Amino acid sequence: MRQHFIDNRPAQGSSGERIPVIDPSSGQEFDSIARGNAADIDAAVQAARRAYEGAWGRLSAAERGRLLLKLSVTVLDHFDELAEIESRDCGKPTRQARADVTALARYFEFYGGAADKLHGQTLPYTQGYTVLTLREPHGVTGHVVPWNYPMQIFGRSVGGALAAGNACVVKPAEDACLSLLRVAELAAQAGFPAGALNIVTGYGHEAGDALTRHPGIDHISFTGSPRIGALVTQAAAERHVPVTLELGGKSPQIVFDDADVDALLPVVVNAIVQNAGQTCSAGSRLLVQRGSYEAVLERLGAAFAKLRAGPATMDLDCGPLIRKTQLERVQGFLKAAEQDRIATVARGAVVDGAPPEGFYQAPTLLRDVPVDHRLGQEEIFGPVLSAMPFDDEADAVRIANATDYGLVASIWTRDGARQLRLARKVRSGQVFINNYGAGGGIELPFGGVKASGHGREKGFEALYGFTVLKTISIKHD
Ligand code: NAD
Repeated sequence: MRQHFIDNRPAQGSSGERIPVIDPSSGQEFDSIARGNAADIDAAVQAARRAYEGAWGRLSAAERGRLLLKLSVTVLDHFDELAEIESRDCGKPTRQARADVTALARYFEFYGGAADKLHGQTLPYTQGYTVLTLREPHGVTGHVVPWNYPMQIFGRSVGGALAAGNACVVKPAEDACLSLLRVAELAAQAGFPAGALNIVTGYGHEAGDALTRHPGIDHISFTGSPRIGALVTQAAAERHVPVTLELGGKSPQIVFDDADVDALLPVVVNAIVQNAGQTCSAGSRLLVQRGSYEAVLERLGAAFAKLRAGPATMDLDCGPLIRKTQLERVQGFLKAAEQDRIATVARGAVVDGAPPEGFYQAPTLLRDVPVDHRLGQEEIFGPVLSAMPFDDEADAVRIANATDYGLVASIWTRDGARQLRLARKVRSGQVFINNYGAGGGIELPFGGVKASGHGREKGFEALYGFTVLKTISIKHD
């Protein structure tokens, strides 16, 4: 059984209870984690506070940056090990797990380099005064991480928080903790002072809830579903604690008749198949202008028919979904499609020999999905792409904006003026033109509008969110 990680060492859970860890490729239990509770969270918050007021808080920005850079190298030194842990724990095809380790190391590299470039300003003011601003850390930050990209989301959230000088308490998702427990050990090995980075595993309604309500937490970074995001915000509001919310998406890819279809096809496929569609920024709605709708669907259908899902170690297009209930949820959406006579253009296959207890879903392309149907509105979080036609620019914008979400969008057209017109009209945190970033690079600010959340992570922008601006006015004449 894996323990929590507090004060640079494994810490036994106070309840002694455990949560089984299931391999999604086989459906079999292969390990277990501690079932954390409020007492464990309290121990972690106290450790973080001691670090913030002690050894960690005394480091200069340059020293914090150096530690993050060292952690980046340490992660790369353990590349294969981390990829294997993540692949088994989350059912990620090998290539995807390896990409996640690369991203994790890059986050620490980016924020290591940024730590000593974050600064306040001096401001012009009335004669006889000097006014300056300081960017100070919040103190102890709480991070609630989902199961779909544990290492990437941990890297972007904790990397920025540590660079800005905060001490962190992390509650990973109960389905995907193992890689983060190992990364915390590597951080200790890289020289982070005890208490700077702590991990408590457990269920959301227990450990997660205790973390977001703890009076010692000064900022909360939450990545997960809109429903839980609202609960977390309510808990934070009781204590007036700032929250960054990264929630879901129903992101549209908008294809005009003049688009380069050869270029867009592999990108559209990847944006929904990557991580078996369990990506907040998955391109899950395909809007195609009527003149090219049939031709695009024909070519896309041929590509979908060739897609294969299977065990993580086979490194196919799709691994399994994270757990049985997630598979049942996706199957529920496909059943609704069938009942409401929404046609399937093409479906890939689950490979022969995939363990029958694994959580596999063949990638599926649906057509003529009504804009207001739940398949066109709700986040499926599986490899299911909903295609729908549109007439003109105004129609495309109307459909693109017709969900509760607003995380990512893409616009495929050769018309430069149209690219810019639409990029401004689409309500979302990121817009890609003739490409699709599925979250974009580490340098690019990322986050949503509407039910997709608020606040920005990634890039330099995230550092502002992990600091408080203090204004100091000095009268000297
Ligand atoms: P979830 O909201 O159920 O869980 C997310 C995390 O919150 C987990 O660690 C969970 O244990 C914890 N949690 C659950 N109940 C809690 C509570 N009452 N208090 C505090 N914490 C609690 O989401 P999920 O099913 O794990 O992840 C999928 C969702 O996350 C999708 O909606 C997806 O779009 C979203 N997501 C968003 C982003 C983004 O950056 N925008 C990235 C990844 C995932």
